[in-house]
Amino acid sequence: MKRIGLLGGTFNPIHNGHLFLASQAKEKCSLEQVIFIPSALPPHKEEHSLVDATHRYIMANLATLDNDDFIVSDIEIHRGGKSYTLDTLRELKKIYKTETIIYFITGYDAISELNTWKDVEKLLELCIFIFATRPGHKPKIDERYLKHTQQLTIPELNISSTYIREKIKNRKSIKYLVPDLVYKYITKYNLYL
Ligand code: ATP
Ligand code: MG
Repeated sequence: MKRIGLLGGTFNPIHNGHLFLASQAKEKCSLEQVIFIPSALPPHKEEHSLVDATHRYIMANLATLDNDDFIVSDIEIHRGGKSYTLDTLRELKKIYKTETIIYFITGYDAISELNTWKDVEKLLELCIFIFATRPGHKPKIDERYLKHTQQLTIPELNISSTYIREKIKNRKSIKYLVPDLVYKYITKYNLYL
């Protein structure tokens, strides 16, 4: 069976925390590929600081350029509107059929919020969730979901796109928080100022 990982996000902008999460998930869960999926419109986020999907898609491509096992999909941007994970998984299931196991990678804290997710039962029928967990933490997982989830214990890189956007707005450096090409792209197009 082929094993692929999906990393969905707004990627506004993509940063080293995303890349570290993807690389650790790939290594520890023996995934052949990680597909980064920038959302068109995230279902539950304020939009005023959201840059155009094309910019976010290009930055994701620049960030993953040097890794053959990381690819970027425009499936959600192409579909447009609010991006629901369930729609994306259903589409990808049709493409990959049954010879592929799909892992959906999520960052810290998602695990404790799992029961608040829309359609979680349906999502778990289509994929296995990989949850990042901080070393030393043992989050409680609902018994019902245990079979469909996997924990990935990795040290925390405590950065977020919000933190990076704030820094840019305040004219502070974001070098070393994002890949160099992303840094150059943001500078060239004056994003987030
Ligand atoms: P924002 O600050 O705008 O919410 P973000 O940094 O959380 O952005 P998203 O695009 O919302 O980035 O996140 C995509 C996925 O990456 C989510 O599953 C999120 O939990 C995870 N993630 C984000 N930052 C990190 C990080 N520093 N380490 C590990 N996982 C992360
Ligand atoms: Mg977030």
